[in-house]
Amino acid sequence: MSIFEQLSSYDHEQIVFCRDDAVGLKAIIAVHNTTLGPALGGTRMLDYPSEADAVRDVLRLSRGMTYKAAVAGLDLGGGKAVIIGDPAMKTEAMFRAFGRFVDSLGGRYVTAEDMNTTVEDMGNIRRETRWVTGSEAAHGGSGDPSPVTAWGCFHGIRACLEVTYGSPDLSGRTVAIQGVGNVGWWLAKYLHEQGAKLLYADVSGKRLSRAMEAFGGSVLEGDEFYRAECDVLAPCAIGGIINPRTIPMLRAPIIAGGANNQLDDEKRDGEALATRGINYAPDYVINAGGLINVYSELKGYGRDKAMQDAANIFDTVKRVINKAKVEGITTAMAANRVAEERIAAVHHLKRVWLAPR
Ligand code: NAD
Repeated sequence: MSIFEQLSSYDHEQIVFCRDDAVGLKAIIAVHNTTLGPALGGTRMLDYPSEADAVRDVLRLSRGMTYKAAVAGLDLGGGKAVIIGDPAMKTEAMFRAFGRFVDSLGGRYVTAEDMNTTVEDMGNIRRETRWVTGSEAAHGGSGDPSPVTAWGCFHGIRACLEVTYGSPDLSGRTVAIQGVGNVGWWLAKYLHEQGAKLLYADVSGKRLSRAMEAFGGSVLEGDEFYRAECDVLAPCAIGGIINPRTIPMLRAPIIAGGANNQLDDEKRDGEALATRGINYAPDYVINAGGLINVYSELKGYGRDKAMQDAANIFDTVKRVINKAKVEGITTAMAANRVAEERIAAVHHLKRVWLAPR
């Protein structure tokens, strides 16, 4: 498929190829859709097997950002950038050169941290452009997003409990968390404070001990996570874990957690969950707290406002699950429709004539 065919198949607005041989920069910025606002999305650095792989990745990821921002009700579009190369080879000059390309877009694209890029890299980009988020909290940045992401997940779980049991109350409920890292640990904290019983699965013994010491609960080994007799499974580790192998093992009526790309195949696995009557909170809806945190930085707000906005994920998750029931579709499809309907509605706003000044 030609690049223009790829752009139209995902319905992208623009793709920018950036090169600066002197500093070894090869980067691609994809602006998917700016109907709702500037295209925001992180810059990842990866030694892609081929340039075609990098193009595919940036197109796929930037489209995902449009949907995530739209469902979360933010005034943001979707974008993403990739720097092609070994992260061990990164330099100040490379990120400053990249920053100049970001600046040339005049705010149509706003960047942030992503896979293999750091607060320090964002600092180097910031030397060249203001269209960057994710600097250190001490320098006016929004800091570690994990507490906000987990806060959004916590409210998404409450919404799923309300839809499933008629009450969002956590006391006496059991939640199994896969991955007690940054997001999982904060989620465990919020759940524990509301009286939930906790089960944990993690490949790191250190992370498991830290959670057990702080919040009590017990450990699940291997596939025990999928078979757990509990109210909620909260995947907070890796993607692709809901698949034809694991779905037959599931006993929990709810899947709601912070990990990205939980369904191995959105359509196939989403339909299998719906058939089994399992309420799945689509990952990009329930884990939008990180994006909400960055958005807050862009608007000049603070952590309190980000936390308040992340709590609205309660209403968004309920809306998505109810839409899925009414329209007879999977929750993943319902989330996509919520995003598409919002973008279409705003797209049709009338232009107001302004007199020349
Ligand atoms: P993290 O690396 O801090 O934590 C991940 C945890 O999962 C670690 O404790 C790790 O040991 C464990 N783990 C890894 N593989 C595992 C496996 N196979 N089984 C069980 N446990 C395993 O990462 P994080 O920042 O907490 O992010 C977790 C997930 O949430 C990722 O999918 C990430 O993309 C997503 N996410 C994070 C944020 C954020 O704000 N950090 C925002 C949106 C989405």
